[in-house]
Amino acid sequence: MYGLLAIGLSTVVFGQEAGQTLNPKDQFDTIATGALTPAPPMPLFDPSQTHVIVIDPGHGGIDPGAVSHDGTKEKDVVLAYAKALKQFLEGSGRYEVLLTRGNDKFIKLDDRVKYARDHKAELFIAVHADMLDNHTVRGTTVYTVSDQASDFEADALAKKENGADQIAGLNLSKQKQDVANALMTLAQREAKSEALLFAQKTVHEISPLTELSGNPLRSAAFVVLKAPDVPSVLVELGYLSNIDDEGRLNSAKWRKDMAEAMGKAVDSYFATASANAEK
Ligand SMILES: [Zn+2]
Repeated sequence: MYGLLAIGLSTVVFGQEAGQTLNPKDQFDTIATGALTPAPPMPLFDPSQTHVIVIDPGHGGIDPGAVSHDGTKEKDVVLAYAKALKQFLEGSGRYEVLLTRGNDKFIKLDDRVKYARDHKAELFIAVHADMLDNHTVRGTTVYTVSDQASDFEADALAKKENGADQIAGLNLSKQKQDVANALMTLAQREAKSEALLFAQKTVHEISPLTELSGNPLRSAAFVVLKAPDVPSVLVELGYLSNIDDEGRLNSAKWRKDMAEAMGKAVDSYFATASANAEK
């Protein structure tokens, strides 16, 4: 499947060249840790109301996800990022943040969706890191669900991510049918437009901080984004096949900065959603 994906990407449709300069501080702070700064209180919110957010670190357990040449595993870096985002969001006091997995264990794609619905999540954020044969492609991409993929590469990526269950010997065909059915509902269309709003805000907030892929807002039929009533996005933080992206994913400082930027997008999203609800 990687080979197929690489053909479509050989023209560097949405990547950035490896020669691009990277701030040295981003490359050599992998040991940096420290408490995350909580966001300042936002008066727009009713303090008695907290929003439930589910963060879904991809893969886990028997399924490592992408593995870099140097052995960095997607399942580890996305879990570290999810924890940083949870810590930042909870520091504001405005959110209850739940992780589909807080350690290295395998979870079925359907169960990740069910977890979000069972906990009445108002926002679902899946985090991943991609891998390509073309090592020059890099940058962050934010995906929303769509039965028609935005492009060939997005379609190929969704097929790859949707194949996670097969690693544990699970059957994918029924899930594909469920996705097709779920996509037809009105509730899903509403959740989809809210997800797109959050995706746009995310790209806006992270763009000063990090590289974006050439087309950072994309869509495809990801199984994990199929909850009909929960606005859901999937963030591919970067590419483990690109040495600069790998350095960033391994950097606690970069993960913290990304968590803060995405946290601003979360604030902005709920502020807009509250304002729309009052109209
Ligand atoms: Zn993944």
